Amino acid sequence: MGDEEWMSCLRKFAVVGITKKLSGFAKGTALWLTSVSNEVGQMLISVLTAQEGPALDTMAADLIRRYSNAGVAPPQLLYIDCQCCREGTGQSKLKQRFGGWPDLVVKLDIYHFMRRLASGCTKDAHPLYPIFMSRLSSCILEWDSGDVALLRQAKREQRRTSGERQMIIMIELLLNELMGVKGRDFLGVPLLDHERMKHIWQIQKKHVKCIQDEAGLNRWNQDREAASLAVRPPSLLSYSGDLVHCVNNNSVKVLGRKLVPSFQPPTVYTGELIGIDYLYRQAGRALQHVQPDSE
Ligand SMILES: [Zn+2]
Repeated sequence: MGDEEWMSCLRKFAVVGITKKLSGFAKGTALWLTSVSNEVGQMLISVLTAQEGPALDTMAADLIRRYSNAGVAPPQLLYIDCQCCREGTGQSKLKQRFGGWPDLVVKLDIYHFMRRLASGCTKDAHPLYPIFMSRLSSCILEWDSGDVALLRQAKREQRRTSGERQMIIMIELLLNELMGVKGRDFLGVPLLDHERMKHIWQIQKKHVKCIQDEAGLNRWNQDREAASLAVRPPSLLSYSGDLVHCVNNNSVKVLGRKLVPSFQPPTVYTGELIGIDYLYRQAGRALQHVQPDSE
């Protein structure tokens, strides 16, 4: 496939962030917040679950159905923070979960990969910590300077992944260097916990392939970014959806056109489970019905 073709078929990609355990109202149970956003950072869905894994099947199925109901092409790329690959052959659980999108390419988010390696440091307040993180970033991402056009991009600080083999060599050089005297502060405190980091790297090395860029991805994203800004800003500057919706309705009556054509009013609720409603339904409970007019 040519470069142009590949870029044009990268219509959408999404990010799954299984972010953190919550505490509070459901004390003692492990709660997970899972969010999916699209390529322009808009949140598509956010649900709470008691565990990860199978609990997310409904969310994935609903999302796939929503795309198909809207007649929109499925995402081509999915960035995730865990379950990027599995030992041996066969699909990861996550790939099976999104089986309704068979061509979906699953990638590990580089930020999460770096966080995994950073957990091998003795403390993040160590004076060498920022240097380690910055060097690690340089191991993973390289300046994109293949030709004049790419050089121009590189000057605008756009980066791409450096390739699996090269990345492994560079990270190993960095780790070896910092395991030595260079990796100590003036009191001799080491930045890296040797045993922990050795163990972490042994595991994470396998995921280096999961963070490699798709060909042409950076330029495709830049094009989408430029396209999203190429719309003239509306004359009405307001973040109130209700207000813009009313103005548009009245504007159609009076002027025969929408004053803010870029505004999309929310569509009818489809019954898709969102946020805490998702968690409650799995536990067989219903979210309390709230009267908007009551206290
Ligand atoms: Zn992986």
